[in-house]
Amino acid sequence: KEKLRDDALLRKSLSISKKDWNKEDFSWSRDLKKALKDVFKIDKLRELQLPTMNAIMSNEDVILIMPTGGGKSLCYQLPAVISKGITIVVSPLVSLMEDQLHGLQKVNVQARMLSAKSDKENVKTVMNALLDKKSDIKLIYVTPEYMAKSNRFMSKLQKAFETKRLDRFAIDEVHCCSQWGHDFRPDYKFLGILKSMFPGVPILGLTATAPAKIIVDVQKMLDIQGCLVLRATFNRPNLYYEVRRKPADKDTCLDMIENLLKNRFKDKSGIIYTTTIKDAEQLTRYLRALGIKVGCYHAMLEADYRSEVYSKWISGKYQAVVATIAFGLGIDKPDVRFVIHHCVSKSMENFYQESGRAGRDGKKSACIVLFRLPDVFKLSTMVFQDKVGLQNLYKMLAYCLDQTSCRRSLIASHFEESWTRTDCAEMCDHCKKPKKEKQVDVAPYCRQLYEILTKAVQSETRLTALKLLDAWYGKGASALRVSSVPTPKFTRESGEAIVGYLVVNGYLQEDFHFSAYSTISYLKRGPKAALALDKAHQILFNYELH
Ligand code: ADP
Ligand code: MG
Ligand code: ZN
Repeated sequence: KEKLRDDALLRKSLSISKKDWNKEDFSWSRDLKKALKDVFKIDKLRELQLPTMNAIMSNEDVILIMPTGGGKSLCYQLPAVISKGITIVVSPLVSLMEDQLHGLQKVNVQARMLSAKSDKENVKTVMNALLDKKSDIKLIYVTPEYMAKSNRFMSKLQKAFETKRLDRFAIDEVHCCSQWGHDFRPDYKFLGILKSMFPGVPILGLTATAPAKIIVDVQKMLDIQGCLVLRATFNRPNLYYEVRRKPADKDTCLDMIENLLKNRFKDKSGIIYTTTIKDAEQLTRYLRALGIKVGCYHAMLEADYRSEVYSKWISGKYQAVVATIAFGLGIDKPDVRFVIHHCVSKSMENFYQESGRAGRDGKKSACIVLFRLPDVFKLSTMVFQDKVGLQNLYKMLAYCLDQTSCRRSLIASHFEESWTRTDCAEMCDHCKKPKKEKQVDVAPYCRQLYEILTKAVQSETRLTALKLLDAWYGKGASALRVSSVPTPKFTRESGEAIVGYLVVNGYLQEDFHFSAYSTISYLKRGPKAALALDKAHQILFNYELH
C-alpha cells in the first residue's frame, strides 16, 4: 500500500515537472540574467539550473538531483541575489559552508554562516540581518544542529517570516534526511518542522543521490510530498570507465601504476585514491622511489601542508595526488585526466563522485578501478556498522565483477536513469572490447565452499575469505582442506570472483568479529544457503572462468 502511494506521489512530481519551467518571461527573468553575468560572471546556465530557479522563484518546493560539480549552489545563490529578503541555506558541514562563503565573497555577495563555532559578534550580525530590512546580507548558512539547538535563531526566523523577510530555504545534501541515504544525519530530522512553521516559504532540496526510495523518504521527512523533482543526467560522456584486475603482488601492482603514469598518462594530471591513510603514505613513498612526482593528501596532515600539496598539483609540480577520500571538497581543477582507484570505493555514489573529478573540462579522461577481492573485505570491516554500508559496498563489488555490461549502463541503472547501450560510444572497457556473454552455474562451487565452511565449524575455526580460498585451492593449513572438494581448474582470480558473486547474492555472508586491534571479516553461509543446497538450484553468473 505504502509503495503504491509512493508511486502515486512520484508520478505527481513528474507531471508537475512537465510544466514549462524553462521560460524566460517570468517577472524576474531579466534580473536573473543580468545578475548571472554581472555578479557571477557566468555566460550560460547549465542543464536544469534555469528550471530550478524559476520554480523556486514561483514558490514551488523543489528537489534537485544533480551530480556533484553540476552547479547546484548557483540555483539558490542567484535567486538570493535578486531577491529582497533572506535565503537560509542548511548545510551539513562547516567546511562546505566556508567554501561557499569564500566563493561568494569573491563576487561580493553578502553571506554569513552560523555554527557551533561562531563567535558572539558574528551571531549578533546574523540575528540582526534577519530582521533589518536594510541589511545587505542575502544568504545565511547554518548547520541543522545549530537550528535544532538555537531557540534564539528559530525565534528570529519566525519574526523574519512574519515580516516577510524569509524568502526560502535551501537544504544542501538533502539525502541526509533519509535513513536510506549513505550518510543519514539525525539532526536533519529537525528540518521536518520547517514546512508547518513557515507555511508558503518554499524549500529547495539539493542532492547528488538519486534513488526514488530516498527522494520519497526525503519528501516525507520535509513534508513536501509530491513536490517538483528535477533530475539531471549522470552521464559523463567524456569519461572512459575501466576496471582492471589489481595484481596481488605489491611490486607487480606498482609496475602497473608506474606504466600508466609514465606512458598512457605521461605529462597528464590525475588523482590516485586509496582507502587508508597508511596506504596513501606507503603508495606515495613507493611511487616517489620510482621517480614519479606525487604528493600525498589525507585528513591527518596539517592544513598548511595539505594546501601546499594541492597547489603543487594545480601548478603541475606533482603529476598526481595520492589521497584518501578526504581529498575532494573544493577541488577545482578542470584538466584532471585520470582518476585511479587503487582500492575500490565504498559505494557507487562515492565512486561516481570520486571518479567524477576527472574531465571537468569536457575532454576525454580515464577512470580506472584496480580491483581485488581482499580489498573489498578490508573495506567491509570499515563500513559494516553503517546501516546500509555493506549493501552499498556490494553494489560496487558487483560493478567490478561484471565482465560484459557497459560500465555506463551499470552507473545509469544505479542512479535509476534509463540507458541505451550505444550511447556509450565505446567509452568503457566493455564497449570498446565487447566479450560474449557466458553464463556459468556456480551452485556446485557454492556447495563445495559450504563443505569447507562446515568442516571449519566442526573444528571450531572461522574462515576469512583468504583462508576459505586457500583451503579450496589446496593451500594453507591442511586441516582446513576437504578431501572430497576438488581443487578448482580455474585461476584463483576466477575463484575470488565466484566468492565475491556469492557474497553479493546472499549465498555467502560476512560475519564480523572484533579482535583486540581490529575487526575481522569471516565468511559463513548466507541467507540463501537453503536454496543453494538444493541440487536442482542454479546460481547463474555471467563470467568466463579462466
Ligand atoms: P555542486 O554543488 O552541484 O556539486 P557547485 O555548486 O559547487 O556544484 O558548482 C561546481 C562549480 O561549477 C563551481 O565552481 C561553480 O562556480 C561552477 N558553475 C556552476 N554553474 C555554472 C555555470 N552555469 N557555468 C559555469 N560554471 C558554473
Ligand atoms: Mg554542492
Ligand atoms: Zn560502455
